[in-house]
Amino acid sequence: SSTAPTMAEAAMAAQVPPDEDGDECLPQYRHLLSPDLLAGQVAFITGGGSGIGFRIAEIFMRHGCRTVIASRSLQRVSEASKKLVAATGQQCLPLSMDVRQPQTIAAAVDEALQEFRRIDILINGAAGNFLCPASALSFNAFKTVIDIDTMGTFNTSKVLFEKYFRDHGGVIVNITATLSYRGQALQVHAGAAKAAIDAMTRHLAVEWGPSHIRVNSLAPGPISGTEGFRRLGGKFAEQSKQFSAIPLQRAGNKTEIAHSALYLASPLSSYVTGTTLVVDGGSWLTSPNSFSALLDVWAAGANQ
Ligand code: NAP
Repeated sequence: SSTAPTMAEAAMAAQVPPDEDGDECLPQYRHLLSPDLLAGQVAFITGGGSGIGFRIAEIFMRHGCRTVIASRSLQRVSEASKKLVAATGQQCLPLSMDVRQPQTIAAAVDEALQEFRRIDILINGAAGNFLCPASALSFNAFKTVIDIDTMGTFNTSKVLFEKYFRDHGGVIVNITATLSYRGQALQVHAGAAKAAIDAMTRHLAVEWGPSHIRVNSLAPGPISGTEGFRRLGGKFAEQSKQFSAIPLQRAGNKTEIAHSALYLASPLSSYVTGTTLVVDGGSWLTSPNSFSALLDVWAAGANQ
């Protein structure tokens, strides 16, 4: 009827910040917080060349932060860096490293410190995921996900601790997931890997708290415009109207995750450590966890 709210009106009422689907910067951005919230600071963001990590880099830069974006593909982070610098006017250093290889992390952190003389924030965003039933998952596939997500988060945190945070303090935000909370079908590898990171968050918060290091996890739900969304059946869920099961009735967007990361990385959360901030519109409480339906998605090759 004519009294029904338009999509734009509904989005406004729900206070959803607009987003872009691809790895592009936002054409416009309205600050909700002070544009110099992170002025003078430097963030080291693994997986910062794409998806959620890219948007975290952009939003941090729009709040005065300089960034280092690091992943395996130098081409990916270099192209991302050009876009980020053009959109925000801040500095962004692209570096190649593999979170599975501590010596490549050490070299990247050395280069970052040489360039900026400080690192205040570490975002552990690098990860790999795909749908796969446990019965079809190779031993090596399970190990690879643990290596990138869990070991990668530990490796990078430890290098940052030794090279800078131990003496200067710092903030660590680990990007995890809600997959293990209800034993999400076809996700034993990623669910186990991310649950281990949430445990690591608490252990490191305890051990490193006295060194003025805060450590928290941020667990996104389904986030549109990401590789994760494309691979994990997000499009299928959208088409089959499964998002109506989510309390907030929709997928989240990358800017919403970046805003939560901004909160956890900034002094706004100065007394928050050892916790997991779930940013999923209430999704994990109510979303379907049907083994047979997800098997169909997997069989149809949605993970390719
Ligand atoms: P994405 O674009 O695929 O980002 C993953 C990034 O990790 C890529 O930039 C990749 O770059 C990097 N990476 C992968 N392996 C690496 C390695 N061995 N060393 C260094 N970097 C590596 O994915 P996304 O969907 O935005 O996800 C970002 C984070 O959010 C992940 O931690 C993911 O688990 C989490 N998350 C996402 C969703 C979602 O809906 N998208 C939901 C829950 C949680 P290279 O290929 O260049 O290395």
